[in-house]
Amino acid sequence: MKAAVLKDVGGRPEVIDHPLPQPAADELLIRVHACGVCHSDVHVADGDWDLIRPITKVPLVLGHEVTGVVEQAGAEAHGWKPGDRAGVPWLHWTCGQCEYCTTGRETLCSKQLITGVTVDGGYAEFIKAKASHVARIPDSLDLVDAAPLLCAGLTVYKALKAAELCAGMRLAVVGAGGLGHLAIQVGKALEATVIAIDIHAGKLALARECGADHVLDSSVEQPRKAVRALGGAHVVLVTAASAAAYDTALTCVRKGGTIAVVGMPNEPIRLSAVSLVAGELRLVASAVGTRQDLQELMDLAAGGRLRCRVEARPLHQAPLALEDLRKGTVTGRIVLVP
Ligand code: NAD
Ligand code: ZN
Ligand code: ZN
Repeated sequence: MKAAVLKDVGGRPEVIDHPLPQPAADELLIRVHACGVCHSDVHVADGDWDLIRPITKVPLVLGHEVTGVVEQAGAEAHGWKPGDRAGVPWLHWTCGQCEYCTTGRETLCSKQLITGVTVDGGYAEFIKAKASHVARIPDSLDLVDAAPLLCAGLTVYKALKAAELCAGMRLAVVGAGGLGHLAIQVGKALEATVIAIDIHAGKLALARECGADHVLDSSVEQPRKAVRALGGAHVVLVTAASAAAYDTALTCVRKGGTIAVVGMPNEPIRLSAVSLVAGELRLVASAVGTRQDLQELMDLAAGGRLRCRVEARPLHQAPLALEDLRKGTVTGRIVLVP
């Protein structure tokens, strides 16, 4: 099969012939219809993260926003059959037995396998995945449009849940990219007032289309004054991979508010302890989501409340897609189609 393969961390993926995955009894072989290109794929390929670099398998097929159709179901892949619509998320497998897995926090399982990091992902014509951790894609969703839900949508849905965003609150989303444009829509679905902040006019135009009540270009003016004039944000969700975005977040959050940490720059973030204490702020860091979160998100999307802005591109453009993300020129989400 064709796959975009990263030979070494720090290199560029190459589209080559790669062996067809051989599913075990508890696995599915899935014919990939689409795979979203997440900014995390750039971080993984570039070796940006100290915690992920040492566990990254090479050679590696990147990609953890995978949708497709089951081609073959192993003997122990109960409940699945060829033809079923399936989605493969970042969390490829968890042990089901540790203190985190048994208390609804499987994202913290230390035995977890990660799609497109420790096992091959979806920049390919086929992927194999553990039946226990594959999501069902509702019939009402197009498989290309749905791909970014598997990470971008899931991550922001879970982060806003963890931040306890409620109806009537003001939510500021710093970074209106792949994750951010979906966060705006989740915020509106939860009946919050949404303020979108980015450094590119094009992303802010998309933010408006996604229902943002206010849009602010932080490359032109620090958003502090405008957000303060609205009363400050109860929740600030940072989805930008930039320490500067966290500086912005601290100026936008209201007293007693919450900063949700999602974007992961490869440098430390600066948060003044004095500001945190004076405002009695809460920091909530959030990693992707559990299978339960993913099911809730799929229900929300099936109800028509979420629409990913996707740009479908052929699989052979995988290297270019990563390059465009590095340059910051992607609006919405690039989705690779084999
Ligand atoms: P993206 O490139 O599509 O979007 C990032 C957005 O941030 C862009 O619109 C960019 O213009 C904007 N931006 C950059 N600097 C900014 C600044 N200083 N102020 C305001 N906006 C700024 O990336 P993405 O795919 O949405 O991923 C974003 C980050 O989230 C990455 O670091 C990724 O690794 C991380 N991520 C985290 C999780 C998690 O579980 N916590 C899951 C997925 C992705
Ligand atoms: Zn991702
Ligand atoms: Zn576990």
